[in-house]
Amino acid sequence: MANDGSRPVEWAGQAFSYLLHHPKNMESQSYAQAAHRSVQASAAPGGRSTARGVWDGPAPQGSSAPPTHAEDMAPTPADSQQSTVTLPGGSVMPLLGIGTYKLDSVEALHTALDAGYRHVDCASVYKNQELVGKGLADFIKEGRRGELFITTKIWNDEHAPEDARRSVLQSIAELGCQYADLVLIHWPHAWKAGTEEEDPSVTLQDTWGALERLVDEGHVRNLGVSNFSLGQIEDLLSWARIKPVVNQVELHPFLPQRKLVGGMLRKGLRAIAYSPLGHSKTDLLGHPVVEELAKELDVVPAQVLLRWNVQRGVGVIPKAGSAGHVRENADIFSFSLTYAQKAKLDALENGKRFVNSSWHNWED
Ligand code: NDP
Repeated sequence: MANDGSRPVEWAGQAFSYLLHHPKNMESQSYAQAAHRSVQASAAPGGRSTARGVWDGPAPQGSSAPPTHAEDMAPTPADSQQSTVTLPGGSVMPLLGIGTYKLDSVEALHTALDAGYRHVDCASVYKNQELVGKGLADFIKEGRRGELFITTKIWNDEHAPEDARRSVLQSIAELGCQYADLVLIHWPHAWKAGTEEEDPSVTLQDTWGALERLVDEGHVRNLGVSNFSLGQIEDLLSWARIKPVVNQVELHPFLPQRKLVGGMLRKGLRAIAYSPLGHSKTDLLGHPVVEELAKELDVVPAQVLLRWNVQRGVGVIPKAGSAGHVRENADIFSFSLTYAQKAKLDALENGKRFVNSSWHNWED
């Protein structure tokens, strides 16, 4: 299974298998020392089981030096060809999808399907689902609906059970996709219809119950959330009859959210990265480290950024309107970042968010 690191983890004992961040109880802040000690411990007869395994997390904070093991410098074999993940329940989700926020060309969808995209990320609030539906129509008419993984989302003022139901059924009709593979609650906010005013009379239980009924009736295959914190996910998991399988959040090297992504994985949820290229800003795509790695790998900066996420098992849904960009972004499974290359990107973490809303306070 893919994870945040570059190599498979073979943990024995108490350690959990996704080391997405440097654990607080590690004695050393040095990758080289940690790796060295784990090799010694596993070689020693009777070595403590918690020390066995392969360090597979991102570079510890403050460490920019490349690891000293020769194997760490080699291209990473792990998961380089893995382009899908199986969700709890059995649906297969392609790790690469096309984002459709502000997408305004049917042609971009045709190019995406030709380039091999099978995952399409939509939302009622994007107000372009009929256009997206036009782009998918011929493919679906050919009897190939089953190859697609289509996501839609209910907007904040569609949380009342009858509104959630109407929204999802309307999205399915606009997209012409017969059923939705995944429906997400776009934000953890319930607003009164047609306003940006919180509606305390609508609970998450009400909304989720309406979505569960759509699954029961066969209109929807999987449920998930977006912009939820770990605490909100834990609450949802404690009472949901049908468990969420995805949380879609902003993820890129500036904002890796390791605690959230790792916590979600351990609870059975996959992360999908929105704005993986930096939301049409140049900060990330034009960052000198990203440009330098792109040159080194003979790819473009967008491919470096997308690869960084998929290599840790995170789905990506870059939006691209231009045919060239659509095609470039599809080619992220033919190369890997080495540990050292990934560590350079890990070191860019600065907590910067490109998507902020005045009405939302970020937790954890
Ligand atoms: P992205 O990070 O995907 O960036 C999109 C921008 O990158 C566009 O300007 C695009 O240009 C450009 N681009 C795409 N490919 C390349 C390339 N190869 N080289 C250079 N530039 C490139 O931003 P988004 O914010 O749109 O996020 C992606 C998707 O995530 C959205 O479309 C939406 O589906 C979802 N999303 C979900 C949110 C949520 O709350 N759940 C919030 C925000 C986004 P061009 O179009 O000209 O090709």
